[in-house]
Amino acid sequence: MTSDSKILSFEVFPPTTQVGSSHLVKTLDSLRALSPDFISVTCSNNNYENIADTTIKFADYVNNTLNIPAVAHLPAAYLDKTQVIEILERLREKQIMKVLALRGDISDEATKKDFKYASDLVKFIKDYDSSFEVLGACYPDVHPESINRISDFHYLKEKVDSGSDKLITQLFFDNNSFYDFQERCAIAEINVPILAGIMPVINRNQILRLLKNCNTPLPAKFIRILEKYEHNPVALRDAGIAYAIDQIVNLVTEDVAGIHLYTMNNSETARSIHSSISSLFKINT
Ligand code: FAD
Repeated sequence: MTSDSKILSFEVFPPTTQVGSSHLVKTLDSLRALSPDFISVTCSNNNYENIADTTIKFADYVNNTLNIPAVAHLPAAYLDKTQVIEILERLREKQIMKVLALRGDISDEATKKDFKYASDLVKFIKDYDSSFEVLGACYPDVHPESINRISDFHYLKEKVDSGSDKLITQLFFDNNSFYDFQERCAIAEINVPILAGIMPVINRNQILRLLKNCNTPLPAKFIRILEKYEHNPVALRDAGIAYAIDQIVNLVTEDVAGIHLYTMNNSETARSIHSSISSLFKINT
């Protein structure tokens, strides 16, 4: 834990190829030197058959080879209770005692009945073994399926009351969305630490994905960067990193509980950002 107890964490995703896996190991080795408070490993929804070779394998590497606390993501809409217990047992065997409990995105395939929402999973894990630290996802710009902001808050409160110890936000590009969200959480007595999810946008593919899938509003300042440097990869990377640093400096100055960096398995970017912000995490104010 950093000295003023602000959390700095990283997120990685398990790749689908052997080459990608070797690359991820190198990335993780490199991230270790930055001493994050934890590294979280994502998990594809409906991935029960492969979870041992993906999320659990890399979380094990983080936790037990690098000795950095690992958080295993666990989307459960397509899992039943027996399968979740088996996964929790495997995690416990490897002393991975932190889980990001998720519903996951729903595809055309019918879901199972046991975990309709993330809060069902949070409660189940806490009842099963309360020594698991359970994190949850939250959405400063409102979850896309929510009928409105009020209902999103209502169910977020339910998720926290079910036992979530911390929340990690979906990526956002306007810090004011985060501050507004944080204030509404306080009013709703959602009092757990909220880690701000920051994604440095450093290449064109990311932009295209964002524009297609993301309901996160893009501020004018951010759109200007995308438009101006879209076809200049080096400038876009530099501007994307600078934008993320600017967001983080502002958030840390405003006493955010922590920063969760979506690394996209790119240790260079994480290192570059870290070198500009690490001292901010060491100040006791
Ligand atoms: P929930 O908290 O269950 O919410 C889903 C929707 O249901 C919301 O609109 C909520 O308001 C509503 N809702 C909740 N409870 C109720 C209720 N009782 N009645 C009616 N409506 C309700 N996905 C993956 O597949 N793998 C990952 O590794 C992964 N990692 C993520 C990490 C972070 C930090 C974040 C923010 C998201 C991640 N996701 C991941 C994406 C996530 O799975 C999707 O956003 C998914 O659509 C919602 O999951 P959730 O856990 O937030 O769901």
